Amino acid sequence: MRLILLGPPGAGKGTQAQRLVAKHGIVQLSTGDMLRAAVAAGTPVGLRAKAIMDRGDLVPDEVVVAIIADRIGQPDAKRGFVLDGFPRTVPQAEALDRLLKQRGLALDGVIALKVDEGILLKRIETRVAEMTARGEKVRADDNPEALKKRLDAYRAQTAPLVDYYTATGQLKTIDGMAPIDAVTAAIDSLLKPAGRSRSRGKPAATRAGRARTAKAKTARGRAARRGVKKSRGKAARPAAGRGRKAAKSAQVSRKKAGRRAAKRSRAGTRSGARKTRAKRLTRGR
Ligand code: AMP
Repeated sequence: MRLILLGPPGAGKGTQAQRLVAKHGIVQLSTGDMLRAAVAAGTPVGLRAKAIMDRGDLVPDEVVVAIIADRIGQPDAKRGFVLDGFPRTVPQAEALDRLLKQRGLALDGVIALKVDEGILLKRIETRVAEMTARGEKVRADDNPEALKKRLDAYRAQTAPLVDYYTATGQLKTIDGMAPIDAVTAAIDSLLKPAGRSRSRGKPAATRAGRARTAKAKTARGRAARRGVKKSRGKAARPAAGRGRKAAKSAQVSRKKAGRRAAKRSRAGTRSGARKTRAKRLTRGR
């Protein structure tokens, strides 16, 4: 399963991504986390990104695209991944399309978490307070000025992805303001049909196909199929499940079939008697 979670900072992408990881055994690819790790490790990418991130601006496309290109090729991403915080611009989305195409892969969906921006600031304040209370290090960009910049960057550069993925028919929108468990449930229900069909490499089940399968699973369906196999005649099929009218018509058909069989047998007896008489004559008796 390969997914994108789309939404402004504080929309809950990280939380939902972690739940998807636990549920589907896929990996979470958060460009923000990877960049923070690069900053902490003091790598060339980290050194380049630090000041940009602290301000709340976006790191150049080629930097994050290179990180993702490398990451999705690693063994733990083979089972699938959820992209959290990537792509953030249309050129990044185009680059991702190319990367997936080169590897013969496709996305299973793009899930946009729709949120009220006015409430985001409050959410981030709560997150900061909780982290501080736990004695955890607070993100350098979790402050009002940087958050404003991050929201501006989202509106100007990331929000156009909603149109991009609407045009490709991959976008599914969810109410990100709902309680966390309700958001998770909404995501689960979006993923059920796509996830099942993709993972087995079969085309998505059609409604008629599903109905046939369900019928085949019932005792009635099995009985009906056994009846059909034993005899091609409608009259021989068990009437159960076909309604009173059908049962009546089956009874009539059975009677007719019985009369025809009796007629054939009488005719057979007559022709048998004729043959015996003919034999006697040939023998001269
Ligand atoms: P996040 O943890 O997703 O909020 O990202 C934190 C910061 O990392 C962002 O404000 C950006 O500076 C940088 N960043 C993360 N992902 C991207 C991306 N896809 N494109 C550009 N910058 C990014």
